[in-house]
Amino acid sequence: MSKFESLGLQKSLLSAITDLGFENPSEVQEKAIPILLEDETDLVALAQTGTGKTAAFGFPLIQKIDAASRTTQGLILSPTRELCLQITNEMQLYSKYEKGVNIVAIYGGASITDQARQIKRGAQIVVATPGRMKDMIGRGLVDISKIDYCILDEADEMLNMGFYEDIKDILSNTPKEKSTWLFSATMPKEVSTIAKKFMHSPKEITVGAKNAGASTVQHEYYVVSGRDRYPALKRLADANPGIFSVVFCRTKRDTQRVAEKLIEDGYNAGALHGDLSQNQRDLVMNSFRKKQIQMLVATDVAARGIDVDDITHVINYQLPDEIETYTHRSGRTGRAGKSGISMVIVTRSELRKISAIERKIKQDFLEVKIPTGIQICE
Ligand code: ADP
Ligand code: MG
Repeated sequence: MSKFESLGLQKSLLSAITDLGFENPSEVQEKAIPILLEDETDLVALAQTGTGKTAAFGFPLIQKIDAASRTTQGLILSPTRELCLQITNEMQLYSKYEKGVNIVAIYGGASITDQARQIKRGAQIVVATPGRMKDMIGRGLVDISKIDYCILDEADEMLNMGFYEDIKDILSNTPKEKSTWLFSATMPKEVSTIAKKFMHSPKEITVGAKNAGASTVQHEYYVVSGRDRYPALKRLADANPGIFSVVFCRTKRDTQRVAEKLIEDGYNAGALHGDLSQNQRDLVMNSFRKKQIQMLVATDVAARGIDVDDITHVINYQLPDEIETYTHRSGRTGRAGKSGISMVIVTRSELRKISAIERKIKQDFLEVKIPTGIQICE
């Protein structure tokens, strides 16, 4: 019996799992799936990024809903449009052998009429960003008054982004008798508040050290003078011709500027930030997924939770203010047990921030020298 089978998953899901190439459940899956399949319970699951949380709630949810009924039974809230689409795509793969299961994504920046039409056709599972969900409830375009399951995915990021009031509003439109499953990488105060307020004696599982980043990630930094940030970025790219990376900047303006410079200088780069239209964002994400873009320059908000395989480098062009944001950034690489480098470009005066991060993630950084032109040519 495969390990997945022993968790209690039905045959059709096991076939989909085989197609996906998942050999063994990850730790969070191993712990969460049996609980969610067996009991009607609330659950708080804490596991770092890249540990397979989507499948940990996705498989049980698909198995539990009644595919013969067309009512909306499961609601998944997720922080960004990109994540919404990613979860929806992933869940559609999980449910490929289920008959009549419809999973619909609801997010801002795309036609609300189209989304309403898809819901009307009957979606047992709705994956939504809080903002658009609230909007659709307000307009009577979606009915969540009969859901059995509510999943708060990447709860820390949703709350970080200021969705507390929206989430509260949305939950007040759901029935009292339902199960709430909360998944999060970290457990800041806001997340425990939500758990206390809206959940009933939830079971809890924690995987790995709380607040720790994936250990398959090596953390490195370059020390530069302020104006050498950009040349250092180019050197890093030159020294790694196969680079496939997300480059994080602090502002939309810097993001756009760095991406434009890279493109001008002949690199395969693209920008992802909130000033672009949804269509532009989708185009950039698709090219990045297909590896047509090697360097995705992004803001934290736009790149939240993005799961693209085989990212070799996460580059902190500028460090974020919050250490937790650094954890989320570096979690874009080293996913599913693969290795990756999280590189920080810092000035001397920012070095104490590195020490603060080291203490928090309980991992040491390695100072590396910027590769010289000669080293690159060798
Ligand atoms: P998280 O939400 O915890 O950040 P994801 O659910 O996005 O993580 O999963 C990270 C990656 O791991 C995805 O590409 C997913 O397809 C892959 N994955 C998930 N579960 C398994 C598994 N059991 N075996 C192999 N790969 C897996
Ligand atoms: Mg996730």
